[in-house]
Amino acid sequence: MPPVHQLVADTSQHWELLEDLTGRVEYCSPSCLAVTGYGPEHFLGSTGAVPRLAHPAYKAPLEVFLAELRSGPVQQKSLELRIRRHDGSTCWVSCHARRVAGTGGREFLRATLHDISNRKVVELELAASRLKDPVTGLHNRTWCMEHLKRQLERKRGGHHFTVAVVDIDRLKKVNDTLGPAYGDDIIRMAAERITSTIALPDAAARISGDGFALIFQDKTPRQIIKHIKEIQAAMSAPFDLRGHEVTITASAGIVSGFVPGERPEEILRNANIALRQAKTNSHHRYKVFHSHMFEESSRLMEIEIDLVSGLKNGEFFLEYQPIICLETKELNSLEALLRWRHPRHGLMQPDEFLPVAEATDFIVPLGEWVLRQACTDMVKILAEYPELNGLSMSVNISARQLAQHNIAETVALVLRETGLAAKRLSLEITETVAMEDPAFTAHCLHIIRALGVKISIDDFGTGYSSLSSLQNFPIDTIKVDKSFVGRMDTSAEQRKIVRSVISLAHSLKLDVVAEGIELREQWSMLKVLDCQNGQGFLFSHPVDALALRAYIDKKSALRP
Ligand code: C2E
Ligand code: MG
Ligand code: MG
Repeated sequence: MPPVHQLVADTSQHWELLEDLTGRVEYCSPSCLAVTGYGPEHFLGSTGAVPRLAHPAYKAPLEVFLAELRSGPVQQKSLELRIRRHDGSTCWVSCHARRVAGTGGREFLRATLHDISNRKVVELELAASRLKDPVTGLHNRTWCMEHLKRQLERKRGGHHFTVAVVDIDRLKKVNDTLGPAYGDDIIRMAAERITSTIALPDAAARISGDGFALIFQDKTPRQIIKHIKEIQAAMSAPFDLRGHEVTITASAGIVSGFVPGERPEEILRNANIALRQAKTNSHHRYKVFHSHMFEESSRLMEIEIDLVSGLKNGEFFLEYQPIICLETKELNSLEALLRWRHPRHGLMQPDEFLPVAEATDFIVPLGEWVLRQACTDMVKILAEYPELNGLSMSVNISARQLAQHNIAETVALVLRETGLAAKRLSLEITETVAMEDPAFTAHCLHIIRALGVKISIDDFGTGYSSLSSLQNFPIDTIKVDKSFVGRMDTSAEQRKIVRSVISLAHSLKLDVVAEGIELREQWSMLKVLDCQNGQGFLFSHPVDALALRAYIDKKSALRP
């Protein structure tokens, strides 16, 4: 009959061990069989039998662990390690060991080990999923940040790397039209196409809904560009989405050459700045980051913030440019043009801030303000000058405004609030906007026109569409872009274009306005070509409400 304390150890569920400070096993409980597949006889009396089981990756940590307990001040310690079982498989064990005093002043290490494989598997899976994108199986943003941090540390040792952010253009459109499940399909297939072009040690991660980060090691700029082009070519092949064929494009922002102390977030931010620029470049759709881009992007961000307070603080105002009858010089209509009195940058023209307002959708409230202000001013002008009973107001409408589902409601509301008759209002949309999604444009324009509001096509001639392609739109007026008018006095070719636009417009029973008339020659030629209306610096620059009154007064005074 063994001593009572040994009975306790013999029947323990855990693997109990006692060894002297040289590592010779003095006692081993039978549970070792369940944990290791070896019986107690394998360990008893031997030295180093337990460390020999350790998986190679854990041999060194185990040695340190034992050395500290055998020699040092450490009295007890725990370690989790992987061991190799008798059948060749591996399992995870937790080992808790302490130094104990035995008889005769001898000291021992007493260890309790138990199998923690089940828990460890879950833990490892969780750790892996923390770094993994569930949709594509690629690494995720967290992994990417940690990886970039490691790369930046390695870089101090002369290692060179490049980061490219690749973004699927218009994924939102797929999500909106076919549903998010199809969007996920595209992402998954796109990820496969990307990974098929990537080989270790380069790596790919999905870092946002439609964005991937690629990290290239020791590659030349030429190799990187070639790689990005390969990816873009791979992406442009049609995707088969459960019977729907969808084509997409991908844009990329590339950044390399990092400054000391740079952080992973800054690298991705810079790559994204380059990406945003690439998206506006319809030819190459990739851009390499330069520091000036950062300045530009900070400026745009500043404008984005200032737009909101600008509208609140009344910093926007409208100027009006007269559109006149070219034959009689009588005032026909006024075009409202937006200006911004910026508190720091001074007077800003629309091309400096409208693109930002468009990109951020701020154009929607801003455009509504323009509409309301222009209609309010128009009502006042008509009250002051009842003789101008044929006058109308032209307001520019951007793509984003048109895409709003309730644009017609907004127009109707503003007309009601200001009391302006619908026939006194004309909305201008540019040819490029109209042709972006012709069916949708036609739908919107029909609703707006049903209110009695007139429609003009602005900047005609710049969008490469034919006049007949505009036939499906309910339009009243074509505005010939100033680039043609500006060159018609010097170029026979331009003159011919203007002539055919005017005669085609007439055959479609549309009015024509020539924009940007600066010279008397242009005016005369346009009259010969039977263009009825025009606007331009020759007649008047865009002017504020006060100067406009002076303009009208002068005209009235000239009248017999
Ligand atoms: P647009 O609608 O084609 O307006 C005509 C532009 O030509 C105006 O520029 C006007 O100042 C300019 N212009 C007029 N006559 C002449 C001329 O004889 N020679 C030259 N070189 N230019 C002339 P502006 O005010 O800078 O506006 C630029 C564009 O910004 C507008 O082009 C329009 O597309 C857009 N825009 C202006 N205000 C608004 C607005 O309230 N909403 C929207 N969505 N867009 C606006
Ligand atoms: Mg216009
Ligand atoms: Mg125009």
